[in-house]
Amino acid sequence: MLQSVDVGRRTLDSYRGVASDSLIEELRRRAEPLRGLRVLQINATPYGGGVSELLRSAVPLMNDLGIMADWKIISGDDAFFQVTKAIHNGLQGAERALSDHEREVFRANTERNATLLEEDYDIIVLHDPQTAGLLQMHGKDHARWVWRCHIDTSKPNPGIWTFIKDFLVDYDAAVFTMAEFVPPDLPIERVEIIPPAIDPLSPKNLLLDDRTARQVLDWIGVQLNRPLVTQVSRFDPWKDPLGVIQAYRLARERVPELQLALVGSMALDDPEGWEIYRQINAARANDPLIHVFTNLTGVGNIEVNAFQRLSDVVVQKSIREGFGLVVSEALWKGTPVVAGRVGGIPLQMADGVGGALVDSNEETAAAIVRLLKEPERTSRLAESGRARVRDHFLLPRLLLNELSLIGALVNERPSTRDWSHEGVVRDPVCGMALEAEERGARSATYQGREFLFCSEYCEFRFRSDPERYVSTGSS
Ligand code: UDP
Repeated sequence: MLQSVDVGRRTLDSYRGVASDSLIEELRRRAEPLRGLRVLQINATPYGGGVSELLRSAVPLMNDLGIMADWKIISGDDAFFQVTKAIHNGLQGAERALSDHEREVFRANTERNATLLEEDYDIIVLHDPQTAGLLQMHGKDHARWVWRCHIDTSKPNPGIWTFIKDFLVDYDAAVFTMAEFVPPDLPIERVEIIPPAIDPLSPKNLLLDDRTARQVLDWIGVQLNRPLVTQVSRFDPWKDPLGVIQAYRLARERVPELQLALVGSMALDDPEGWEIYRQINAARANDPLIHVFTNLTGVGNIEVNAFQRLSDVVVQKSIREGFGLVVSEALWKGTPVVAGRVGGIPLQMADGVGGALVDSNEETAAAIVRLLKEPERTSRLAESGRARVRDHFLLPRLLLNELSLIGALVNERPSTRDWSHEGVVRDPVCGMALEAEERGARSATYQGREFLFCSEYCEFRFRSDPERYVSTGSS
């Protein structure tokens, strides 16, 4: 049997106040016909990284709605996770080929995991490339299979993409964070665009009073009388921690008392973490104003919560990024963010909200300094960032999107890129459901159809290449 991950209990009612009553009612209505349905989510790690974060919150809520939702993880040896990380990097565009031996390692581990998947489910959702081969090795039976890709696969390394693509042919649906990420020759007909979301009630995001947050950071050695810049991320080259250190050093020329915290986690399926950790420590060169913390030294959800709350600026200097939950986490806490203009990040900070999007170390440093030196502008930006997260990136919205997909799969409705059957109006670029009061503010007509957008950013992307957004998928 695959290893199950224990999750807590959660009730949808506890989200009243953070989600509108109409959204909560809609969720109940949509879940009603799905009661008793057996849904399995499978990924590669129970901690570290955004996918485990999402599942830990979404699975208990599905159960509260009467769906029998389980979460299991695959297992593998070191060699397997080296290969899956190479595949992950290749799908994000890294120059890398897989040897015959590495392909065999992937196949052998996938086959072993497939034989461990013994129970019967109606819907099986496999997350990211690590799990992508399970369907082919297991066989479909009567379940519907969904591949949920969380990474930026817009410009994959062709060799690695071809290898993974061959495992995808039988899926009933694929889910991507943005339409841009859908590779043109994806062999799956039904494609959904569903951006992730944060759980406002999880220990990482719940309201932490200022005094407690300060105690938490004081305890681990952060100097609270100095301005603080923080990046919270797996230690991964795509998150560019070394670039963060360089940008911080540039910013410190203008703000000498500034300190930096790099908070990183080691995930079970990410063997690169230790090498990056070593590089960070070498670059840090024992500078007492650069702190490095990890989950292995006890920096967990509450500490991350305190960092995201008390930092003067949160940085997310990614070079590639599927979504970057950490951006919404910081914005939700009213903290301004300086982040790489890549992947799903501009979606969260569309139209200049929340802080600054940057393209280089120099721009990162300049944006940090400006946010530190112009408190009134900064607090306006932070407020707008929090509002955007409240409107679009909280868990109940994500759950609504996921229930819509499950309902469509169970009822074999056509591809949901034509969302008219849902009675929900969605932005065609980011896929987000638009509340009644948001509709009509930004719109475009294409081929006689009207499209509505959540932001100027999405409208701009649509107008630049409308065909892309109306043609993805089979409808
Ligand atoms: N995270 C954490 N501790 C750390 C580093 C990261 O709890 O030291 C969490 C972070 O708060 C976020 C998730 O891991 O919830 C990372 O998700 P994101 O989408 O930003 O990036 P991913 O790791 O999935 O690429």
